[in-house]
Amino acid sequence: MIDLRPKRVAVTGGAGFIGSHLVRRLLERGDDVLVIDNFYSGTRDNLADVRDHPHLEVLRHDVTFPLYVELDEIYHLACPASPVFYQADPVQTTKTCVHGSINMLGLAKRTGAKILLASTSEVYGDPAVHPQQEEYWGNVNPIGIRSCYDEGKRAAETLFFDYHRQHRTRIKVARIFNTYGPQMLANDGRVVSNFIVQALTGQPLTVYGDGSQTRSFCYVDDLVEGLIRLMDTGEEVTGPINLGNPGEFTMLELATEVLRIVGSDAPVEHLPLPQDDPTRRRPDITRAQETLGWEPTVQLVEGLERTIAYFAERLVARGLTAFAAPVVASS
Ligand code: NAD
Ligand code: UDP
Repeated sequence: MIDLRPKRVAVTGGAGFIGSHLVRRLLERGDDVLVIDNFYSGTRDNLADVRDHPHLEVLRHDVTFPLYVELDEIYHLACPASPVFYQADPVQTTKTCVHGSINMLGLAKRTGAKILLASTSEVYGDPAVHPQQEEYWGNVNPIGIRSCYDEGKRAAETLFFDYHRQHRTRIKVARIFNTYGPQMLANDGRVVSNFIVQALTGQPLTVYGDGSQTRSFCYVDDLVEGLIRLMDTGEEVTGPINLGNPGEFTMLELATEVLRIVGSDAPVEHLPLPQDDPTRRRPDITRAQETLGWEPTVQLVEGLERTIAYFAERLVARGLTAFAAPVVASS
């Protein structure tokens, strides 16, 4: 008998920045979507436009506790991604990565669902290999202020591969590089949202260190396309697969670009470089190109223009003309 029911797809962290974009795409293609989120760094506002969609259900739940539901696929995104948020409660961050992954893998094992982990380029730490290929094992401080996130995600990857080897769980591991776009929180603390909010409100742009450290920024629509393509692969594809935009920029270049697009002459203010801040980061996306036929299509200027337009509208709508972007602790 042909099963005509929509696919039942869970998105943990579905009220967050990337999760909410993913949820919208899944609803558009007809899936039945269950958002599982404790709203630590995500908001219901991110899903306001689809709130009444008949195929969406939103569950307030902390993934560090078990959950019993029936599913076909799980996108496991739950975890704060901004240093400001993940360092505010580092023990909970590690619990979310480890206990949260065990619970979601247990759910996948019981239901037979496919499960995709939103891992991170942070597993490469401060990389000694550049650009970063999936074979590289990384250079990570196990006891620093970023470790709850970096080591948490590394442990999550270990759990995914052990469930795959031990229980034949169908896993997919995506290593996501810095992603940006509309629906980042204004108080998120990540560099793109900080610079945009600062430029729009006429405050100095807070560049940590001398600003020569690099990142590669992927627009969220491209990233979501990569996640869906990865989930849709056959059982033999487990990853890890880098998903990111190989365009590499220094933080000073990013600041200059944001100021130019906003048309602001706000100054740059240098603040201390946070501990263990990676000096450079760029994905080698050969594996994603070959396995998924995927590569980013939105370049930085276009993506920044769209993101700046989003923040401009939101800041004005909320009267946040003097909003202070959060800055991260330096040690
Ligand atoms: P985000 O902080 O906007 O979203 C994370 C979501 O997870 C939030 O809605 C939050 O409330 C929820 N959450 C956190 N802890 C939870 C818990 N214990 N139980 C249930 N929900 C919980 O971050 P994002 O940028 O959307 O990132 C999503 C995922 O992608 C994260 O796993 C992150 O590590 C990964 N990632 C993101 C980036 C990036 O640049 N945005 C880069 C690499 C990896
Ligand atoms: N950064 C900065 N000013 C800010 C916020 C961040 O110069 O207001 C720098 C930060 O030190 C890092 C880069 O921007 O080198 C990216 O930081 P983000 O927190 O966005 O992501 P991650 O460090 O996790 O890649």
